[in-house]
Amino acid sequence: MSNLVILDSGHAEYVEGKQAPDKSLKEWDFNNQMQYKLKKRLEDHNISVYLTNPSPAKSNEMGLTKRATLANSYWSNRSKPNSLFISIHANAYGSTFNTARGTETYVAKNASSNSKKAAKYVNDEIVKAIKKIDSNGKDRGVKTENFTVIYKANMPSILIEYAFYTNKDDLNILKNNKDNLVEATVIAICKYFNITYKSPTSNNDTNKNESNNNTSEDSNLYYRVIAGSYKNKDNANKMVKELKSKGYSAFIVNYKE
Ligand SMILES: [Zn+2]
Repeated sequence: MSNLVILDSGHAEYVEGKQAPDKSLKEWDFNNQMQYKLKKRLEDHNISVYLTNPSPAKSNEMGLTKRATLANSYWSNRSKPNSLFISIHANAYGSTFNTARGTETYVAKNASSNSKKAAKYVNDEIVKAIKKIDSNGKDRGVKTENFTVIYKANMPSILIEYAFYTNKDDLNILKNNKDNLVEATVIAICKYFNITYKSPTSNNDTNKNESNNNTSEDSNLYYRVIAGSYKNKDNANKMVKELKSKGYSAFIVNYKE
């Protein structure tokens, strides 16, 4: 049975407030972008993903108990696989820009040791990634608070506050470094499930080579590489085999002169 991550994207578009003082980031939108980026990267690692709040755009706020109930029934209907529930948020302090900043991750008072372990891994990796971007990034640590959504979730559960959108430096990171935050979270989740983390570029070398070398501005233009033409099909097959053994994705195309 594969591991399951339940992502709970905080808030919906019609929530009051919850945006940067300069209106350049809305929390629901950040959370939503993060959930789909995380979903893709977790699936790259053969981790199943369930979303409690898949379409927050043009929607009213979703109740916290409902989020936990959705997670619990999905989980128990699948015979309770090895799971982690993650509620995705960004933080605020007041409604004008100020100095409060940093990353904090919450567990509920009833948290299992697995919840605490996951929270520590996730918080540490996010802080590490943020400090690489901005050495003044702040680690606010793992905290305990009975937020309904994590209190009522039956599987190990954590709530991440990635950084503060009411702090200009944190806001920059939330706006411009989502992929770094996603990778940090995925690294921590892999550690939690004890599986090997794969960086985004390591699993598709062919595409990487193509994009690195492509200086053309015409996206419809392709450069086909010919390695040889053969009268005898066995010789053609031999060449394909040799190219494949060297890591090239070769194939045969028939033509007549
Ligand atoms: Zn929030």
